[in-house]
Amino acid sequence: THTSVADLLTGKRQSGEQVTVKGWIRTRRDSKAGISFLAIHDGSCFHPIQAVVPNSLDNYQDEVTRLTTGCSVTVSGTLVESLGEGQAFEIQAEQVDVLGWVENPDSYPMAAKRHSIEYLREYSHLRARTNVIGAVTRIRNCLSQAMHRFFHEQGYYWISTPIITANDCEGAGEMFRVSTLDLANLPRTEQGDVDFSEDFFGKEAFLTVSGQLNVETYACALSKVYTFGPTFRAEKSNTSRHLAEFWMVEPEIAFADLDETAAFAEKMLKYVFNAVLSERRDDMEFFAQRIQKDAITRLENFINKDFAQVDYTDAINILIQSGRQFEYPVEWGIDMSSEHERYLAEEHFKSPVVVKNYPKDIKAFYMRMNDDGKTVAAMDVLAPGIGEIIGGSQREERLDRLDARLSEMNLNPEDYSWYRDLRRYGTVPHSGFGLGFDRLVTYVTGMQNIRDVIPFPRAPRLADY
Ligand code: ATP
Ligand code: MG
Ligand code: MG
Ligand code: MG
Repeated sequence: THTSVADLLTGKRQSGEQVTVKGWIRTRRDSKAGISFLAIHDGSCFHPIQAVVPNSLDNYQDEVTRLTTGCSVTVSGTLVESLGEGQAFEIQAEQVDVLGWVENPDSYPMAAKRHSIEYLREYSHLRARTNVIGAVTRIRNCLSQAMHRFFHEQGYYWISTPIITANDCEGAGEMFRVSTLDLANLPRTEQGDVDFSEDFFGKEAFLTVSGQLNVETYACALSKVYTFGPTFRAEKSNTSRHLAEFWMVEPEIAFADLDETAAFAEKMLKYVFNAVLSERRDDMEFFAQRIQKDAITRLENFINKDFAQVDYTDAINILIQSGRQFEYPVEWGIDMSSEHERYLAEEHFKSPVVVKNYPKDIKAFYMRMNDDGKTVAAMDVLAPGIGEIIGGSQREERLDRLDARLSEMNLNPEDYSWYRDLRRYGTVPHSGFGLGFDRLVTYVTGMQNIRDVIPFPRAPRLADY
C-alpha cells in the first residue's frame, strides 16, 4: 500500500514513519554532493512532495539520475520534517522504482516549463498533468461535491433528466439533432431533400438544452428537486463563456416565488464558495498568485455581501444614464450582452446583482406573466468579472396563460400536452433556475476561457478525443 501526497503533506502520517508514495516526477535536481531531489506529484493536492535520494541506492546512477519530468515512480523511505521552506515534510528515500519512462524527454509536450494555456488546449489528454489544470480539476470537483451536499442538506432530491429529448426548452433554436439514420441511405422527401423528421426511431430528437421542463414534473410531486447534468447548445458565436457541451445545475422548487428562489440561489452560491475557500486553499492560493490576483478576496466579498436587486427596467435606465458607449446599444427590450451585465455588477452595484422581470419577448414560453402584460417573472444573477451565471424564473402555473403564450409563440400545445397536465392536475406556483456549472468554475478560478475548466471542451473546433 502507499500514501497519497496530500496525506503525507498534511500530517496524516508522522515524522519517522516508513512510507511509500506513487506518482510522477515534476522536477529532478542533483546536488554536487551526490544527492538528488525529486518533486513527486500524484494529483491529490497542489504541492508535490520532495524525495531526497542518496547516491548509495543501487540504481542511483543508472536510473535515478536519468529521471525526467513525467516519469512515473514508486518511492519508499522515511517521512521526515523538511528543513526547506514551504513544505512540512519530505521523504528520505530508501528505494526508487521506475514504473514508466518518458520517451524523448526533450520532445515531451508537458516538459517542465511554463506553457501557454492555448498550447495546453492542444493537449487535452496530457494537460491534466500541469499545475494549472490539476488545480482547476480539484476546484471543479470541490464545487460539484459541495453543490450536491448543499441540496442534500436542504432536503432536495437529485433527479436524472434525459439527454435525448423531443422539445426545445429554451426555444432558441440552438439544438443538436440526434439520429439513428443510416447515413448512406438517408430518407428523402418527395422534393428530394433529406427527411430529418423521422430521425429517432421515427421521431425528431435532439440533445437537451436544459433539463428544466422534465425536472418541473418532479417538483410538482416531490416539491424540492434538482437536476445536474450535461446540456448541449449549438452556440452560433465563438466566445470565452460558451461551450457546445456544458453542465447545468437546475433546482426546481414547488410553492416558491421568484424572490424566494433568488434568495435560495444566493445561499447556494455562498455555500459552495465557502467550501472552496476552506477545502481547496492550496489551489485557490495558486490561482490568486498566477491567474487572478483577487481570486480569494472576491469570493470572500461575494460571501459577505448581500446581493443587489434591481428590476430589468431600472437596470436599462442605469445603463442608459451611465453615459457609457457600449458596443451594443441599450434600449428597453434588449437581451443584455456581457458588457452590459458586467457594467451593472462591476461598476454600478460593485457586487453580484439579481436582475428581475425581463421583457416577455426575450424570454422562453414557460415564464410567468406579470400583471403588466409586458414582463415575465424572470431573473438573472450577474457576477462581477463574468456577467450572467444564473438564469431563472417563476414558471407559468396558470393553464390559460400558458396556452396563450404557446399560441403567441406559434408552439403546438399538443407537443406540450404532458407539460400542460401539470397545470391541469393540482397546479401550484413553482420556480427554479439554471446555473452554468462550467461558468461557475471559470469564475471561481479566474480562468479566462471556459474551454480550460472542462476536461474535453466541445466548441466549434473539435479535437479527436
Ligand atoms: P448567455 O446569455 O450567457 O448565452 P443564456 O441566457 O443563453 O446564457 P440560460 O438559458 O439562462 O443561458 O442558461 C442558464 C445558465 O447556463 C446561464 O446563466 C449560463 O451560466 C449557462 N450557460 C448558458 N449557455 C451556456 C453555454 N453555451 N456554455 C456554458 N454555459 C452556458
Ligand atoms: Mg445563450
Ligand atoms: Mg442570457
Ligand atoms: Mg439566461
